[in-house]
Amino acid sequence: MLEFLRPDLAAFAAYQPHPGGPDDPAIALDRLDTNECPYSLPDDLKDKLARTYERAIETNRYPDGSHADLKTAIAEYVCESAAAVGVEAAIAPERISVGNGSDELIRALLIATCLGDRGRVLVAEPTFSMYGILARTLGVPVVAVGRSPDFAIDLDAASAAIADPDASPVRIVWTVHPNSPTANALSPAELDWLRSLPDSILVAIDEAYFEFSGQTVVGELAARPNWIVLRTFSKAFRLAAHRVGYAIGHPDAIAVLEKVRLPYNLPAFSQAAASTALIHRRELLAAIPEIQAERDRLLAAFRDLPALTVWPSDANFIYARLAAPGADADAALADLCRQLKARGTLIRHTGGGLRITVGSPPENDRTLARLRELLGGTA
Ligand SMILES: *Cc1c(COP(=O)(O)O)cnc(C)c1O
Repeated sequence: MLEFLRPDLAAFAAYQPHPGGPDDPAIALDRLDTNECPYSLPDDLKDKLARTYERAIETNRYPDGSHADLKTAIAEYVCESAAAVGVEAAIAPERISVGNGSDELIRALLIATCLGDRGRVLVAEPTFSMYGILARTLGVPVVAVGRSPDFAIDLDAASAAIADPDASPVRIVWTVHPNSPTANALSPAELDWLRSLPDSILVAIDEAYFEFSGQTVVGELAARPNWIVLRTFSKAFRLAAHRVGYAIGHPDAIAVLEKVRLPYNLPAFSQAAASTALIHRRELLAAIPEIQAERDRLLAAFRDLPALTVWPSDANFIYARLAAPGADADAALADLCRQLKARGTLIRHTGGGLRITVGSPPENDRTLARLRELLGGTA
């Protein structure tokens, strides 16, 4: 290792987007391993964006570093979409910070709370890997607790970790609502526990899959200054290519995120894409009921595969484990993923199970056919 580098970073591996070996160019892949929407933006919206690029974006100028228009549009969408699921929320643009993907906001929150040996973060595994990865790259310790058989957070273990007098303070509790990879939303008991945490702990609630779950805590933000909600345009809004995420929280916390983020973190074209997607949200989000119905169709079919145990899903993906895991379940799952990939279906092996994104109807038909072929089963 070069002497000027931090030695602790030698143990890290760079993030690998599609692990599982090299792609065979002869096989068209159904990419069902990263929970994106199966559909790109419609052509007419791409044309509109192309015209914005031609006519409105000055490539020699820095983008709007304040994200003012985008924040206004996001605030309106957050309130409107909450109202649509029966949640009253008054979110002003001062309560919003926009990041280069929510990944950037996760790092900004770590910088704002933990850097300089101020404390640790808590995760309940299995969960979104970025919370732990980004913390460790910053030298921030991570305490991991487990989950119950239905994937609720082990609240006793979490409370014990927070109360530990021999460890540095827990500054962030990371949660996902619904969780990835296990697809369960926070339960009333988990939410009550989060409400009981002191103001010295930031409660981060990642709602990356809100549009699929219809569940949100944004209605509680006004009363809870230590809560922050994260959202993204990478999933339901079909903009993973553009890297846009946002945080919603107390104006003082948001002001600090604005200080620690990079000055021009969001390229002009990404801002234009997010604004266009919000203007056309009705059309884009019209695909959600189809994806939910496909999810339920897949779930029902997976339940007929005796080799798999599947759990309910509040998201656009399904989590499954082997019904009879045996001594080396992970090797068996890795092998299953390799065989699926050889047939053209890419899924994610994570947390001792399989995370399978709900794709388009033809993709889902192929997922099912290939799983039946590899696992047996009659359905
Ligand atoms: C996909 C996902 C995100 C999105 O991250 P971006 O950086 O905005 O693309 C965030 N959180 C969770 C839990 C996710 O699954």
